[in-house]
Amino acid sequence: MMRILIILALFIRGLLCAVETDFDVVIVGSSPIPLIEAVYQLECGKKVLILEKNERCGGAWKSIDICGIANADLGCHTIGNDARISSFLKDYIGCRMFCLEEPFTENGRCNKGIYFSKGCHELISCLEKIIQSHENGILLHQELQSVFFDVERGCVYLTVENDRYTSAKLIITAASCFYVENPTFSHPSNPHVQLFPHLYLLVEDAGPVKFSYLNGITTGMSRAMNLTPFVDLPKEGMQLIAIQMHKQTDYNAEANFFEAFKSKKLISPDAKIVCSETYLYQTSTINTAALQKVGGPLLEVLQTSAFTNMSQYIDKWKMRMIIR
Ligand SMILES: Cc1cc2nc3c(=O)[nH]c(=O)nc-3n(C[C@H](O)[C@H](O)[C@H](O)COP(=O)(O)OP(=O)(O)OC[C@H]3O[C@@H](n4cnc5c(N)ncnc54)[C@H](O)[C@@H]3O)c2cc1C
Repeated sequence: MMRILIILALFIRGLLCAVETDFDVVIVGSSPIPLIEAVYQLECGKKVLILEKNERCGGAWKSIDICGIANADLGCHTIGNDARISSFLKDYIGCRMFCLEEPFTENGRCNKGIYFSKGCHELISCLEKIIQSHENGILLHQELQSVFFDVERGCVYLTVENDRYTSAKLIITAASCFYVENPTFSHPSNPHVQLFPHLYLLVEDAGPVKFSYLNGITTGMSRAMNLTPFVDLPKEGMQLIAIQMHKQTDYNAEANFFEAFKSKKLISPDAKIVCSETYLYQTSTINTAALQKVGGPLLEVLQTSAFTNMSQYIDKWKMRMIIR
């Protein structure tokens, strides 16, 4: 009896303390899992603010303009071969899924996994369109600078550039970086920054595309992806190749990389480089375990370390999301 009274008292105190907030949910970052979570929250009827400091959405899955080519994938990606993920992306997001094989097919054996028919630009633009179609969803290309968790009152205070918002919940990933105003949270003296250097080669090669995605072709190269099927190239006989490198100093290895492609017959022997450009992706991580202690029930951390992590959320998402 006593326990019931205590629970009732806590519940009534919660009701009295609860403040009306600007948003039900604020989501920081716009990589695939946070964007799908945003769609789910919107389709649950919540008022959602998504904050992305970059001018393009996608995080490590955004597209970039490089060597004069629009909407090329940022680097190289694999999303595995999970039929559940593939059908979720087709049915609930509206993506057209292909096999990462040559030639790219919709019904092949998909040994190297599945991918989006127009690269990651297809996934992110489908998600942006769905979010924009909801009147309760706002996507701002602004940086979340700081937060204060008022667990007693059930409210998160957010400073976003020159504005101040309140939310009943904050959803982040380990790569959402901001200052925490609660004095019990101690910021690391050296934030953990990771750099991912990339080299893009636009190549004149009249032959067919000979590879889609490969790991460790030669020293210094982490992986390479032939982006030709996913982009609009200025003319026939050209190929766009993205290379993810181990370190920035490997930018000098362009000639070695090109020779390695030739010697492994991944491009034609008479192929020529028309343009080469570098792109550096940078991320920082926050101590989510320490943050969870401060944010308590006001904070949710999405597990985004791999694309396939989305399989743990699919059942929840499917309960409220609309089939497109
Ligand atoms: C180059 C690269 C390639 C990868 N390739 C693969 C792959 O092929 N397959 C795979 O399974 N996984 C891959 N990963 C792993 C990858 O980490 C995840 O797939 C996923 O992108 C992680 O999502 P995230 O939101 O945690 O981080 P990110 O993708 O880095 O996105 C974080 C986003 O949050 C934004 N942001 C951060 N702080 C703020 C703030 N305060 N205010 C507003 N916006 C903010 C950033 O601008 C960024 O857009 C790759 C990672 C990298 C870096």
